[in-house]
Amino acid sequence: MYQKGRAWIEISLSSLKFNVDQLKKILPPECMLMPAVKANAYGHGGKLVSLALQEMGVEHFCVATAEEGIELRNAGILGEILVLGYTHPRQFELLLEYQLTQTVVDCGYAQKLQQHGAEFAVHIGIDTGMHRLGEDWENTDSIQKLWEYSNLKITGVFSHLCTADGRTKEEQEFTRLQIVRFQHVIQELKLAGKSGFTCHLQGSYGILNYPDCCFEYARPGIILYGIFSRHEKRNDIYLRPVLSLRTRVECIKELAPGETAGYGMAYTAEQKRKIAVLSIGYADGIPREIAGKAYVLCKGKKAPVIGRICMDQMLVDVTEIEHIYSDDEVVLIGQSGPEQVRAEDYAVWADTITNEVVSRLGQRLERILVF
Ligand SMILES: *Cc1c(COP(=O)(O)O)cnc(C)c1O
Repeated sequence: MYQKGRAWIEISLSSLKFNVDQLKKILPPECMLMPAVKANAYGHGGKLVSLALQEMGVEHFCVATAEEGIELRNAGILGEILVLGYTHPRQFELLLEYQLTQTVVDCGYAQKLQQHGAEFAVHIGIDTGMHRLGEDWENTDSIQKLWEYSNLKITGVFSHLCTADGRTKEEQEFTRLQIVRFQHVIQELKLAGKSGFTCHLQGSYGILNYPDCCFEYARPGIILYGIFSRHEKRNDIYLRPVLSLRTRVECIKELAPGETAGYGMAYTAEQKRKIAVLSIGYADGIPREIAGKAYVLCKGKKAPVIGRICMDQMLVDVTEIEHIYSDDEVVLIGQSGPEQVRAEDYAVWADTITNEVVSRLGQRLERILVF
């Protein structure tokens, strides 16, 4: 395959390194990064990003599924890989074969691991109020009993904050409550003489908004990629977007007044218009919802998205852009001359969060490392 053919993602190594260094500055020196590289590293390319992070000295990683963990092992990731999600007992053998650390999603799940008959490295998930995965924080007795399971090698205990990005008093109070509950569980375990495990609680917004609640690891996802979940001006941290998304012009067309473009004749040219057909669509992760709101960048200028997004193409109005031809490069996320489009803009246009926007960027997009 030729590089930069149809549509592609450029991953900036220097920006990734910059963000890693910024996060290390916020976190105390003894706190280690355990980046979330699940969902293909939030669409950035799981292998590419994880190997780059490993080069930068990162030794611990979290993924969502056993398959994601296997992909990283096969790519040469040597350190700890924690599977944050549920792994079906039929896949337990894979955890052993690829030396993946499994989350204990509750005490019943621990029993299934025990019964399998081989030793698993595990981190115990604690539910401190999110009510997703983890054993209920109040069941300290059952949590302590997990250490009696001969087949569990317990190397970690963790929980997850569900509203650390919240700015309301209620959300902040709830986060503080989750932190206190987690600390309580750890204290009980230590009092009962349990040791030899690491603790972790903070994801991106735990790091940003609750920098005082550090444990041995922190699990940044979205901010590691230099993206906030929503548009946000922060003075406490500066991050650089790691990803830029690019495509090419397939064709240029002239529309006469009254002519329509795209499916459902959703766009009508009021006057004479020049449009460009781009070789990227919703199958590549471009949300259909952005039509009529978004713009792309070409030759340092904005070109509004028109009509409906197709599976493999989209249309933009390039009437105002001179000298634009087939094969010209177009920026969907990133910088072009003085203009910039951020993943945060897509989150607004599609009425979602950036985490969803980037993690949906498709398999057809080539991922290329740049400096
Ligand atoms: C996805 C995930 C993270 C990372 O979340 P961000 O908000 O992107 O930093 C951390 N911990 C758990 C358990 C997760 O599922």
